[in-house]
Amino acid sequence: MLRIESLDAHYGLFQALFGVTLSVAPGETVSLIGSNGAGKTTLLRAMAGALKVRRDSIRLDGDPVGGASEREQLARGVALVPEGRRLFPSLTVHENLQLAARNGRPGAWTVERVLESFPALRPLLARPATALSGGQQQLVAIARALVCNPQYLLCDEVSLGLSPLVVEEVYQLLALARRDGMAIVLVEQNVRRALAESDRYVCIQKGRVVLEGISASADRHAVAQAYFGV
Ligand code: ATP
Repeated sequence: MLRIESLDAHYGLFQALFGVTLSVAPGETVSLIGSNGAGKTTLLRAMAGALKVRRDSIRLDGDPVGGASEREQLARGVALVPEGRRLFPSLTVHENLQLAARNGRPGAWTVERVLESFPALRPLLARPATALSGGQQQLVAIARALVCNPQYLLCDEVSLGLSPLVVEEVYQLLALARRDGMAIVLVEQNVRRALAESDRYVCIQKGRVVLEGISASADRHAVAQAYFGV
């Protein structure tokens, strides 16, 4: 269980999160919904160890892990697919995947399995990451997180700016991960999609949780109100 408890987060003097409490159970998918600047990326970064936060404000299976490094979180099974892909530009696709596999945990998702699941990646292996389209980079970014065999996969706007066809590919890849029992925390601007792809949702507004519930029975009107802050 990944548990966030009374989490505050700051950038210098600016406070971005105020007492956020939520939990993600093994194998479940939780969507974080909120407008630009609500604090969704900050929350994912805190979970992934990319932000200094109070130690006991994040617990993994009961252990306080807030403020641990990204590498430590990866080793514990928490991996982030950051907004904007952030592949290593000087490495080929294959090298990006191999490096990630080495830094992650052993498990079912090997580089070979990812390539079997997504044959579209195979012809790209020798290319430098910079020579890929945005959609291709996004698939590689997700593949790179998968080969770390996380227990919790944190996805920040993974469909942003992609063609509808590639968006479907991205969600197919996430569905495979889910089938394997991976928990997913999803930030997706398309609210309908965010609800369709998740078990539960959490709406965040100005750094605070304002609404949460079961995605399948979500009141769309209430979610829209929470999203727009009215
Ligand atoms: P978006 O959809 O735009 O990514 P978000 O919900 O992910 O929005 P965050 O990126 O977490 O929101 O930002 C939350 C708040 O923190 C915003 O007011 C933002 O301006 C501020 N913020 C984010 N990163 C920094 C930073 N590096 N330095 C200072 N303030 C920041």
